[in-house]
Amino acid sequence: MTHLIEAIELTRYFNIGRHQRVHAVEKVSLAIAEKEILGLVGESGSGKSTFGKTVVGLHDKTSGQVKLRGETLPQHYRPADFQRYASRMQMIFQDPYSSLNPRMTIGEIVGEGLRLHSSLDDKQVKDRVAEWLVKVGLQAGHMSRYPHEFSGGQRQRIGIARALILEPDFVVCDEPISALDVSVQAQVINLLGELQSTMGLTLLFIAHDLSMVRYVSDRMAVMYLGSIVEVGKADDVYFTPKHPYTEILIGSNPEPDPELERSRPSTAISGEIPSPVNVPAGCRFANRCPKVMPVCRDVTPELLPLKDLDRQVACHLYT
Ligand code: SF4
Repeated sequence: MTHLIEAIELTRYFNIGRHQRVHAVEKVSLAIAEKEILGLVGESGSGKSTFGKTVVGLHDKTSGQVKLRGETLPQHYRPADFQRYASRMQMIFQDPYSSLNPRMTIGEIVGEGLRLHSSLDDKQVKDRVAEWLVKVGLQAGHMSRYPHEFSGGQRQRIGIARALILEPDFVVCDEPISALDVSVQAQVINLLGELQSTMGLTLLFIAHDLSMVRYVSDRMAVMYLGSIVEVGKADDVYFTPKHPYTEILIGSNPEPDPELERSRPSTAISGEIPSPVNVPAGCRFANRCPKVMPVCRDVTPELLPLKDLDRQVACHLYT
């Protein structure tokens, strides 16, 4: 299988003070095939967004690598690198309220990437912006308006047009609907789905709503305290989770379909996620895991393929 994007042991720490650091993302290896949608789930603070931003170069890598079509991307991005990769990798942000500059018109916001990263003249940029506003369900005449004149759902459509106008190969969607009213969430998801299939986009779809991620994604990866604990086909992970954390996370996520809801075991997650500053030895989930064993507190489980299943799990129950 051709991987469009590949993270290899990608690590991102943030220094706080002189002697402490936040282990936000630790040795994460994930590959996404061309035109595939990989959903990334986990609780708040699990490192999902930091991983997405590190993959597209918005955060420097502490260690590890990211490859785009086999090409190793820079460890630290310089302005020229953003210029070089902007047309190939983009990000759609969570908050459509703060991610749009209130002093810029919609035309300036959506066309900025083309002005910076293409050789199109003003007229061509304007035409392309008009085309994209219509593609995302707005009107060409909205170009001269400002972000505050639009609803949350419309602003996220503007964010989508801004990210996709450069026709990137790979897009990180960082909780693209979690700040929106429930009534418009499905519309934005459907729009993203249509654009993904017509443009042949490869997506990393970050979200905490597992049923939404199952609906949208081909495969699903589960992150806990900066590490991946399970990866597999989205339906398989959702309906037959193997890692104890995945099992609890899915059991505690509300399922919109009442029939599916009845067939799932209901569980609640207990205890606090440990601090990413003082990461525990051994399995990071040990203090909350109902199946913890003595080995779990000493030895860090590796993410390994499960026999006879298209699944990878990091848990001593399977080693
Ligand atoms: Fe639970 Fe041990 Fe598996 Fe960690 S390695 S999830 S503590 S059983």
